[in-house]
Amino acid sequence: MQTPGSFGRAPRPAITAAGLLSLFLVVPAALAIGVVYHFIGWYLDLLIVFPLLAGACVGGVLATLAKKHKIRAKSALIAFGILGGLLCFCARWASDITQTREQFIAMRVQKRSGGNPALAQQWEPRLRRIYSPLRFAKAYLRLAAKEGTTISDVGSSSSSVHNSAITGTGFWLLTAFDALLMCGAAVGIGLKQAGSPFCDSCDSWYGTERTVSRLNPNQSDEAAKLAGAGQWAGLGGLRSAGATAKSHCDILLSKCPGCANGFLSVKRQVGNNIKTLWKGAVAPADTQKLEEVRAQWLQ
Ligand SMILES: [Zn+2]
Repeated sequence: MQTPGSFGRAPRPAITAAGLLSLFLVVPAALAIGVVYHFIGWYLDLLIVFPLLAGACVGGVLATLAKKHKIRAKSALIAFGILGGLLCFCARWASDITQTREQFIAMRVQKRSGGNPALAQQWEPRLRRIYSPLRFAKAYLRLAAKEGTTISDVGSSSSSVHNSAITGTGFWLLTAFDALLMCGAAVGIGLKQAGSPFCDSCDSWYGTERTVSRLNPNQSDEAAKLAGAGQWAGLGGLRSAGATAKSHCDILLSKCPGCANGFLSVKRQVGNNIKTLWKGAVAPADTQKLEEVRAQWLQ
């Protein structure tokens, strides 16, 4: 089918050379995010939440690049998501170690020189050689595993704070899990962008998803059936009584800004459980009808 803008243009590949090159920007971004995490984590670190947040920031950068360069190659986003997550993780640890080393050396210099500036000047380079970054890092990691990660269960009052430290193998597993969370969040967000509907003919991402109507979750199966059969009037006839913010069935439409080809999905949410019951492409004429359904619903 010929649509406006489709004349004599080959579809854009899932990733272009320029797009691939642009993805390398995730390297400095991930390193910077890792350093920021270090500064925050130095004072406050929340298990699971912070690694996920840091990974989500990396994923945000990745998705922005994918959107800008129209990258739909999932493998590339998985690879760069993992790379970004790992770099963020390493930058955080490297910053932690560097800061601790600086403090440690300053303390040792003070101790050895007894506050004498001339002596301090002699001791500092010597101590820096003894506690080289690599040697210090090894000692730091050994000590970190021995001391372990403390899970503070801050209860009713500060006196009843319950601490349990995870040490040794558990510590390393938890640390590896942190890295996994960062990579996972970055990959997930990157993939979401890559999987968004894209119009080859117009060489454009579809617009933002909009709600055509919100129904009672009980109507989900009927809505999915009507959507599958293209019965938009029937879909528009369903009433939304009983739908709540946490429990509903949404009919969602995004469309190509060029040719008005649409992408429809029927999603049911009950509590935190979200399930897509139906999704598929819709022709411009049908997009128009769905816009009318939306107008009715909004009234
Ligand atoms: Zn289009």
